[in-house]
Amino acid sequence: MELKPLLNIAIFTKPIPINIRKAWFDKVSFLYRKTLLALTCCDLCGLSCQKYLLLCRYCYHDLPLFHYQKIQGDLLNWPAIYQHLPAVSFDHLLCLAPHQQPFNQWISQLKYNGRFEIAKLLGHLLADNFSNLLSNQLITKPDMVISVPLHLSRWQKRGFNQSHLIAKYFIKELCRIESTEATTYCSELILRIKKTQQQVGQSGAQRRKNLKNAFSIKKGITLPAHVMLIDDVVTTGTTASEISSLLKQHGVKRVTLMAVTLSLPPS
Ligand SMILES: [Zn+2]
Repeated sequence: MELKPLLNIAIFTKPIPINIRKAWFDKVSFLYRKTLLALTCCDLCGLSCQKYLLLCRYCYHDLPLFHYQKIQGDLLNWPAIYQHLPAVSFDHLLCLAPHQQPFNQWISQLKYNGRFEIAKLLGHLLADNFSNLLSNQLITKPDMVISVPLHLSRWQKRGFNQSHLIAKYFIKELCRIESTEATTYCSELILRIKKTQQQVGQSGAQRRKNLKNAFSIKKGITLPAHVMLIDDVVTTGTTASEISSLLKQHGVKRVTLMAVTLSLPPS
């Protein structure tokens, strides 16, 4: 006997048009999302959540976010930040906030305590910020998104790559907000081939030496003109600069670095 979709046999004599199926799916997704949010509590104050998982509307407005209007949508236009990152090879820098509460705590809990739901929150916040900048025509959409890779041994030890998780949720949420086709996310374009030491506490020169020839690029992938690289924290920009240089050696014209936080110098 020929198998037919259950709904068509039980209720309808004709197949359901695809636009109606999509409308039903969107409605169910919306209700699921709303119910899920209503059941979660804000990570910072315990109140119920409305728009973001783990974050209520009041705490959202208290977040120490960067404002991009006066710096033309690019943190490298801010003299203090440009002086802090003098020799970078990426072209634009977008970060949500300075590396301070609550973001430093969230990133630490994601990386070391395996709180994966935080990756979803950070991805959503990045997507909202990015979408606002796009609608204000302060930035342009990249042709491809990639994330900073971990070396295989560190990935095996940790079990996941936090930058990859954040990038995955960012892309998914951006497509939902913009209602457009997904920007290509290529998670395996860059490989980390050198096992480097932990970079916390190292100077820029030490990091550059440590990261020399640390990455390789996967062959057989056509690279577009504009690539966006996603990371969790930017400190000296050395890792992103190494990857940007490699991308540019292979024909990429422009690299945008987007991260959750920027670790500013104490002054
Ligand atoms: Zn709250």
